[in-house]
Amino acid sequence: MGKKEIISRIEELKKKRNAVILVHNYQLPEVQDIADFLGDSLELSIKASKVDADVIVFCGVYFMAETAKILSPEKKVIIPDKNATCPMAMMIAEDDLRNLRKEYKDSVFVAYVNTRAWTKALVDICCTSANATKVVNSIEENRKIVFIPDKYLGDYAMRKTGRDMILWNGYCPTHVLITEKDIMDKKNKFKDAVVMCHPECTPPVIDISDEVLSTSGMVKFAKESKEKVFIVGTEVGLNHRLKKENPEKIFIPATERAICPNMKRITLEKVLWALEDLKYEVEISEDIRRKAFNSVKRMTEIV
Ligand code: SF4
Repeated sequence: MGKKEIISRIEELKKKRNAVILVHNYQLPEVQDIADFLGDSLELSIKASKVDADVIVFCGVYFMAETAKILSPEKKVIIPDKNATCPMAMMIAEDDLRNLRKEYKDSVFVAYVNTRAWTKALVDICCTSANATKVVNSIEENRKIVFIPDKYLGDYAMRKTGRDMILWNGYCPTHVLITEKDIMDKKNKFKDAVVMCHPECTPPVIDISDEVLSTSGMVKFAKESKEKVFIVGTEVGLNHRLKKENPEKIFIPATERAICPNMKRITLEKVLWALEDLKYEVEISEDIRRKAFNSVKRMTEIV
């Protein structure tokens, strides 16, 4: 089946199933192009909860589809490839977290939304890359904070807020591929460019960037900025959206190596098969879902 035929079959099935396709900013360009909604993980999950649909096809990694299910228990949430997982989300195991909770009994546990449902269920509050600083600032001064799983986002929030935190030793294997040298090389070549980087990057990269932004923050900044040339320090997939929405501007990936292989597992064919067979359905026990929901809700109440 050719690409055109696959897309028209997807459109047909979408109507038949009353489905919407949510696509993360790091997905392959051809998958981004069939999106009903394109965005970052929390943006998409909130969209999923508001949209009138029976089926949500989530093109992203597993924890993202889980987050959509946490917010929309009445909808069928499917992910076209159940092996599309996030290595960072898996850098903390359930036993690790339970032991940490015992060790730091009186601390407030903050989890980045890039975590599995069971992780969210075991912490006090979630945060995103866009609101980590606000969430940390909202915690009473006399409370100790444990931040999981991303040590770089945690370090960024720690430096911005001046709060001392215990950081779990997790990180995003894609964002650590962006080096200080990559940024300096690009800066030397494109002297007028603005450097945007994601807070999952390492501290030396963050320190030489002009703007530290989430992917939705980059989309907004690129649109509103008067600047013409941008060096983009995040997963390369975002460049497709940035170019499409700002054809008159130039976007240069900090490095072409910053590819998340799990994000790229989802293809047009897999989206079609997912709609044909309604698989792979995301299921979460109601107990975990409710507890995870509370951690996400506490974050939305603050921000
Ligand atoms: S880019 Fe990093 S944080 Fe995002 S899904 Fe891939 S490994 Fe996980």
